[in-house]
Amino acid sequence: MSTSVGSKHSAGFPVSLAKPGRRVAGVIAMLALIGPATADWHGESRPMMGTEVSVHLWHDDPVEAEALIEAVFAEASRIDHLMSTYKDTSRISAVNREAADRPVYAGNELFGLVRRALDISVLTRGAFDITYDSVGQHYDFRARKRPDDETVAAERGLIDYRLVELDDTAQSIRFVKQGVRINLGGIAKGYVVERGVDILRHRGVTNAIVTAGGDSRMLGDRRGQPFMIGIRDPRRAEAVAMSVPLEDEAVSTSGDYERYFDENGIRYHHIISPSTGAPAHELTSATVFGPDAVMTDALSTSVFVMGVDLGLRLIAGLPDYESIVIDGEGRIYYSDGLQPPER
Ligand code: ADP
Ligand code: MG
Repeated sequence: MSTSVGSKHSAGFPVSLAKPGRRVAGVIAMLALIGPATADWHGESRPMMGTEVSVHLWHDDPVEAEALIEAVFAEASRIDHLMSTYKDTSRISAVNREAADRPVYAGNELFGLVRRALDISVLTRGAFDITYDSVGQHYDFRARKRPDDETVAAERGLIDYRLVELDDTAQSIRFVKQGVRINLGGIAKGYVVERGVDILRHRGVTNAIVTAGGDSRMLGDRRGQPFMIGIRDPRRAEAVAMSVPLEDEAVSTSGDYERYFDENGIRYHHIISPSTGAPAHELTSATVFGPDAVMTDALSTSVFVMGVDLGLRLIAGLPDYESIVIDGEGRIYYSDGLQPPER
């Protein structure tokens, strides 16, 4: 069986990335689960959340494995119904409709993730900001639609996480200004894979990988070998820039080649720099790995916005996290805890 682990990750060759005192990591694309030793892997991929969600796990009982896989998809769907701004009936859509008029009850889970998102805004000095959506909502990449300069100028002032107020006791969210909107697209998939792996772990699974788009979380290893995670080459479809052996870690990649269109030589894509209101343009790919998929998801988006210097400096301050970024010329940079592969 050969299985794609999300469109940003594809099969490739291992590179050695060694960090003192820590078992290596790298990042990924395709996961080859081949051969007799892996006869008990079970897996499935489904289109969900505007991307592909996949679950692969090792189990000796195919019926139980199937039930576990269903449980993870059910969890992903539950979270999507709570947190998708593309669903009018979601709680977050109610927040976006009403929170400028009155505090809106968000419930424990949505409230908690918004709280984490705002904390990450502080950590990244605003590079990660879920209010990016006041500008972001005007894009439709499939229709090649983007906001004109006047719209960006008018909406840009509404991108500011400090315009979101949380009431911990009431678990409610309030916007300080009319027109503020929030969107968890930069963190919710990480939450989905983190929750999915939690379910598997609590039900006794020891080896698994759950992926949603560019976010993956591994449980254990591939039964004696690490998972090979390939980072896609941002400018050559189906090619892998590098591949990294990882186990028991989360990994996320943000790129400008997933949702985008090109116009007059400019690439318009889905990661917005809050300071300009325009798509961030220094990098073409940012990968972050570490212990928690909510963090790697938000951090990969953040590093993409911050660029090589600021982004890698941010990661240098987070001992559990490492990063690999690729710039517009295809140059690859590593955070200081990683040793680049020898050439
Ligand atoms: P993907 O959604 O492809 O996994 P990312 O994890 O990088 O990629 O998330 C990009 C998404 O994050 C965008 O589609 C958008 O929903 C959201 N986003 C865009 N810019 C920002 C930003 N500056 N801060 C927080 N979220 C953002
Ligand atoms: Mg992200």
